[in-house]
Amino acid sequence: MSRGRVVVVGASLAGLRAAEGARKAGFEGRITLIGAEAHLPYDRPPLSKAYLDDVEPGAAPETPTFRTEEVLRDELGVELLLGAPATKLDTTGKAVLIGDQAVEYDAAVIATGATARQLPGAEGLAGVHTLRTLDDAVAVRAALDAGARTVVIGAGFIGSEVASGARKRGLDVTVIEASPTPLVRAVGEAMGAACASLHHRNGTDLRCGVGVTGLEGDGRVERVLLSDGSTLDADLVVVGVGAVPATDWLADSGLRLDNGIVCDATLFTGAEGVYAAGDVARWHNPLFDRSMRLEHWTSAAEQGAIAARNALDPASAKPYETVPYFWSDWYDSRIQFVGVPQADEVQVVDGDLERDGRCVALYREGDRLVGALTVNGQSVIMKYRGLIMKRASWADALAFAEKRRAPAVVSAR
Ligand code: FAD
Repeated sequence: MSRGRVVVVGASLAGLRAAEGARKAGFEGRITLIGAEAHLPYDRPPLSKAYLDDVEPGAAPETPTFRTEEVLRDELGVELLLGAPATKLDTTGKAVLIGDQAVEYDAAVIATGATARQLPGAEGLAGVHTLRTLDDAVAVRAALDAGARTVVIGAGFIGSEVASGARKRGLDVTVIEASPTPLVRAVGEAMGAACASLHHRNGTDLRCGVGVTGLEGDGRVERVLLSDGSTLDADLVVVGVGAVPATDWLADSGLRLDNGIVCDATLFTGAEGVYAAGDVARWHNPLFDRSMRLEHWTSAAEQGAIAARNALDPASAKPYETVPYFWSDWYDSRIQFVGVPQADEVQVVDGDLERDGRCVALYREGDRLVGALTVNGQSVIMKYRGLIMKRASWADALAFAEKRRAPAVVSAR
């Protein structure tokens, strides 16, 4: 299809890449980008990193907008419908509804992402925030600028980055984690514990195996009550307990929803002309022969472009096959992970996080390398991604690690 109308729902990373991907594929028709937020598409990773800690207190941090309105409108030829949440998808009439307004499509890409999970009972209490949107980041940053005593609920990646930002400003911060070890689902138990040591080393009070039983305050949060009977004074509480795919508006669309929009390997939803991309999409990844829904920047960007191309030319649709990749910045360390963390064995093959501040760990399933984690291993992580992509054996991965191992530092007298 080179003419007609493509409608993209969700004006963020995957949605923008879908619009760009459609143009790159030679599409000359109308592209309409529908977004619930009033903002132009912006980048989320900086919101928990540079946006919180890189700027002088009080100075206005730069908004991480991807493209100006002029570029989107004049160069990319995109019609923007912002501040306009889609309320319904009519796959029979081939239209996205925004309230009473019907936006008809020939092809559609759904990229509505995920929304932050809230803490029940915290509604209406000032000083309690999630961190998913630019508006959330503005509020969290203002509280940090004011020197807030900070409590983070959940020692996942975003919560840990907020803790890093608070510590870089010299603020007291406590992270509460209900599981005995953080990041078990993301990187496995052993490496989750290793990453947690970064908190200890940087003066963050990390408390694992403790739940939050309540928040107290007169209109504004003042205290966090914990399941071990203790209490923490707080001016800022950041809730980092995960995200849920934004599919409520699709409830009666007929699309298959199961922790995301269920798609085949080409990101096709099963409804004519409708593809999904990014954090909202659960698709079959042929490389691992399993269904996945990722909340990673790289896959959201890649899926946006592929979903658009496939939507324009379903007859030659290509599968999206990938080795998942994400990074996270804690204090002065970069954590990077490729592949999947479900493994029969995890082996640290280079470095020691506590001793050297860096490490490489490999993940084995059967006789195959399926994952790799590095802390401050930027020069090597993509090599492991390549090995996983090539379906390298465990023996080959260990041999490669042996060759790449940084020589031990021997002190001479
Ligand atoms: P989203 O970015 O969630 O965008 C979806 C958009 O759709 C939103 O703007 C939403 O308002 C809109 N929308 C929702 N419902 C509707 C509707 N009904 N109608 C219209 N619009 C709708 N990943 C990494 O790999 N590394 C990192 O370091 C990293 N850091 C992160 C830090 C933060 C603070 C956050 C929040 C995420 C981070 N991520 C990181 C994850 C990464 O940003 C996401 O994977 C990526 O943003 C997903 O893009 P998306 O377009 O699929 O969804």
